[in-house]
Amino acid sequence: MSMSTTHAPSPVSARPRIVIVGCGFGGLEAARALADADVDITVVDRTNHHLFQPLLYQVATAGLASPAISAPIRRLFREQRNVTSLLGEVVDIDTQGQAVLLQTGESLPYDHLVVAAGATHSYFGRDEWAAHAPGIKTLADATEVRRRILMAYEEAERIHDPVQREALLTFVVIGGGPTGVEMAGTLAEISRRTLPGEFRHFEPSHAHVLLLEGGSRVLQAMPPELSRRAEEQLKALGVDVRTGAKVTHIDEQGLEVETASPAEGAAAAGEAGARYTIRSKTVIWAAGVAASPLGRILQRHTGCETDRAGRVTVEADLSLPGHPEVWVIGDLAAARSHHGNELPKPVPGVSPAAKQMGRHAAANLRRRLQGQATLPFHYRDYGNLATIGRNSAVVDLTSPVGPIRFSGWTAWLFWLVAHIYFLIGFRNRLMVLFDWASAYWSSQRYARIIANNEPHRSRAARAPDQPPAAPPPGEA
Ligand SMILES: Cc1cc2nc3c(=O)[nH]c(=O)nc-3n(C[C@H](O)[C@H](O)[C@H](O)COP(=O)(O)OP(=O)(O)OC[C@H]3O[C@@H](n4cnc5c(N)ncnc54)[C@H](O)[C@@H]3O)c2cc1C
Repeated sequence: MSMSTTHAPSPVSARPRIVIVGCGFGGLEAARALADADVDITVVDRTNHHLFQPLLYQVATAGLASPAISAPIRRLFREQRNVTSLLGEVVDIDTQGQAVLLQTGESLPYDHLVVAAGATHSYFGRDEWAAHAPGIKTLADATEVRRRILMAYEEAERIHDPVQREALLTFVVIGGGPTGVEMAGTLAEISRRTLPGEFRHFEPSHAHVLLLEGGSRVLQAMPPELSRRAEEQLKALGVDVRTGAKVTHIDEQGLEVETASPAEGAAAAGEAGARYTIRSKTVIWAAGVAASPLGRILQRHTGCETDRAGRVTVEADLSLPGHPEVWVIGDLAAARSHHGNELPKPVPGVSPAAKQMGRHAAANLRRRLQGQATLPFHYRDYGNLATIGRNSAVVDLTSPVGPIRFSGWTAWLFWLVAHIYFLIGFRNRLMVLFDWASAYWSSQRYARIIANNEPHRSRAARAPDQPPAAPPPGEA
């Protein structure tokens, strides 16, 4: 690889140079854990903000504005003098020459590298679907999805053809994981609680919200009992939940679905193997995840293994095989949790795991700098939560006395408190608390701003890893 210029972010010093790629949950935690270390850290991210992804669906559904769930990276490191923050996209990693290459052509030399670039959407080889069924991974994605949802209602008010109006008022979410469940539940609430009374030519509460899941149940990471309760709560909100529903085609008009055989999933509409079409102008993708392309780049340069999702298989201590100076963490790592004599278990792609890996990689990095042996990673699993809508959620907690499972209003309250607690920054917590409290009493979603009212039909095609055009300045 060719490297044109070398970036020297801090004055030349003899201190070890640490480069951290990505300031999401893993990267931020790694940098913070090195706050008192005698090192020079450069944190490079392609956005200028740290993002709390678990609440992205709230931005996509107009419940929160973008600044409520994000924080400027530069601000986060204001007091941490050993960190230089750089805005830039890493496009290559020279593991032999120990430098990362930015899109601008600059290179950042390192003594130790932490790669925490996260994941993106996977359309299972059907990248052309991305233009018709955007996913939510970034703030730009979420504001685009919000635009499409709000524009569908606006167009339905103007269009009098019943077939076209029905397609505009049909909202389809693909994927019954936590994000899909949250999106579908909130879309149903928007149509039934937020919008009634605001349109003159149709009844918003008649909008059809579908949640399609290819497997036999929603929330497959949770016990079947909680999946069943989540499905009941979704149905009570008015969501048409279809399990065993495999999407075979998506275009501008809608999508084609094939019903799975009973062995693969529960019966959906019609016979197993039957195909049917859903006409919809708003399809949201919450189905597949692929690791950042930097995983494949590391594979190309070092011959390391990657799994089907492109995640890098790391050593027990989270380092890259054959490269003790490189650490791969978070959603980009196919890591295993090591505990005593138990068989190592795969670590899930969730934020607590990314944070724990960030802290662990930082601790091992220090040990390596001090010439000590590194330690294997152990993931502490505290459980899973998912919200479905106002007053409804499911919680599955891990405790020393066994699992603690509950659903409904208490689960929703627990979910709410946990998310406010884990949000970054006092101001963000206050903003979210205030917005949620006012939404609770009024059923209003105050971030219903359409900054770019381009109609549905002129969607620009884009590849899944390419963010849509950034919203205009001041967009929230
Ligand atoms: C919609 C959604 C909802 C979720 N809900 C939950 C939930 O409820 N609970 C939960 O535990 N987990 C949830 N997750 C998963 C959780 O957010 C991830 O597991 C976690 O963010 C992983 O942390 P990470 O540090 O590996 O990556 P990320 O947090 O994704 O951070 C990666 C960072 O790297 C930057 N980056 C990427 N590529 C480059 C590059 N080439 N150059 C420079 N910078 C780059 C990105 O801009 C980003 O800042 C959700 C994820 C999504 C998308």
